[in-house]
Amino acid sequence: MCLECGCNHPVPFGVKVLSVIAPGLLKPRVPDGPHTIEVHASLLAQNDDAAARNRARFASHGMLALNLLSSPGAGKTTLLSRTVDVFGHEQRCAVLVGDLETDNDARRIHRPHLPVVQITTGTACHLDAEMIARGLDTLSLDGVRVMFIENVGNLVCPAAFDLGETKRVVLLSATEGEDKPLKYPPIFKSADLVLLTKIDVADALGFDIATAVENIRRIAPQAELIQLSARSGEGMDEWHDFLRHHLPV
Ligand code: MG
Repeated sequence: MCLECGCNHPVPFGVKVLSVIAPGLLKPRVPDGPHTIEVHASLLAQNDDAAARNRARFASHGMLALNLLSSPGAGKTTLLSRTVDVFGHEQRCAVLVGDLETDNDARRIHRPHLPVVQITTGTACHLDAEMIARGLDTLSLDGVRVMFIENVGNLVCPAAFDLGETKRVVLLSATEGEDKPLKYPPIFKSADLVLLTKIDVADALGFDIATAVENIRRIAPQAELIQLSARSGEGMDEWHDFLRHHLPV
C-alpha cells in the first residue's frame, strides 16, 4: 500500500515509510519491514511479467509504445491532441489514457481517425501493466504503428511500474518549478526522453529554462531532451522526428 498517496501499490522503501507512520496502526496488515519488501518484490514481479507480455505484443505488431508521465497539468493531453492532428495522419496511432475518474481526456484526444480508450483507475494513482493489457484487448491493433499511453498525473508512483513501453517520456512544464527533477529524481532517471513543455509561457511565468535544462541534464543525462510548446507549435517537429526515428523497422 502506498502510504504517501493512498493508492494500492507497494512502496519501494517500505521500512523508511513505516518508521514515519505510527507502526501500531499498520501491524494487522504489515507485520514487519522485511515482509513489506517481499510483498513489494512479488507485486512488482507480477507487474513485470505482464509488462513483458505487453512488450512482446507491441513488438509483434511492429508498434512503438510510449509511456507519458508527468505531474497533473503538465500538458500530456494537449500534447497528444496536437500530435495526432499532424503526426496521426502520417502514421496510424492509438491512445490509452489513464485517470482516476472521468473520460474527459479521452474525449479531448478523440478524432475520427484515432482509437482512444480511457482507463479509469479509481483510487490507484498509476497505470499498471495489467490495465494496459485489458485496454489493448478492447482495441483493433491492425496497422497501429504508435501507441501513446497517457499515465495518471503523478511524479512518484508511476515510475515504479513498467507497462511494457518501448520508450518512457517524462514531461516537465514551465508552470512547474525548475527544480522538479531534483525533487523527484527516480522518474527523471527512468526517462528515455524529457519534454520541457509550455515553453511559450516560460517568460511570463518567470520560469528559467536554462536552470530547468541544467537540472534535467544533471539528473537524467541518459535522456534526450526536447523543448516544445504544443500550443505555439515550437519544438513539435523535433518531437515528431523522435517518433519517426524510433518507429520499429
Ligand atoms: Mg491528461
